[in-house]
Amino acid sequence: MPKISIQNAGKYSQTANDFFSLENDGDVKKVRFLYQEPDGSDMDYYLVHEVEIDGKKRYVACKAVDDNGELHPEDCPLCQAGYRRVEKLFLQLYVEDEDKVKTWDRGRNFVPKIMTYINRYGSLVAQPIEIERRGEKGSTSTTYELFPLDKDNKTVEDFPEKQELLGSFILDLTEDELYQVIDGTYVVPGTESSNNNVARRGASSNRRTSNNSAPQRRTPSRGARSRSTTDTF
Ligand SMILES: [Zn+2]
Repeated sequence: MPKISIQNAGKYSQTANDFFSLENDGDVKKVRFLYQEPDGSDMDYYLVHEVEIDGKKRYVACKAVDDNGELHPEDCPLCQAGYRRVEKLFLQLYVEDEDKVKTWDRGRNFVPKIMTYINRYGSLVAQPIEIERRGEKGSTSTTYELFPLDKDNKTVEDFPEKQELLGSFILDLTEDELYQVIDGTYVVPGTESSNNNVARRGASSNRRTSNNSAPQRRTPSRGARSRSTTDTF
């Protein structure tokens, strides 16, 4: 029987990729960033729209960028409809004490920070890194410090594979589907079991029911609000 207890909420869903978060001021996690290119070219950096689908906030790939990196907003229904474009850095990292690959959702302002780090310490994956949160829960000025630990020169091959973000974590929709998103009629396939990635963000350990899992979140209006505006890096 597919009926399960609400006491076990979150236990069964197959989330292809969990969000990484540090909940409280001073929380520290030892992780391994799964990137090794010196120019950052292997980074998961995407142009997306944040939209609400079936009451949940989701990332949708923006169609406005061509293969040469040129911007053509006229090619993207969401751009045309006035949805804001957001550059997002999705840092995939291996969390040592959970033996799990997770994704850390960061804004554009984290890019210079991570590039400075690469320039200084080299390949990200070559050493474990401690991430420390500076900022109370819900603070609008939370920052994160990265502390490199001893280098062991491992490579991405030494860790579990990164996830394919596009098509799962970031919805990659057809033009027709994008118009459905605008009309509010789009339904994510398989939405019953795996659609709560974004809504769960930062609330995995204290959520109770899906109705009040994000009490601090204002009603997202057409993706106008981005987490990057609440977390400086
Ligand atoms: Zn767009």
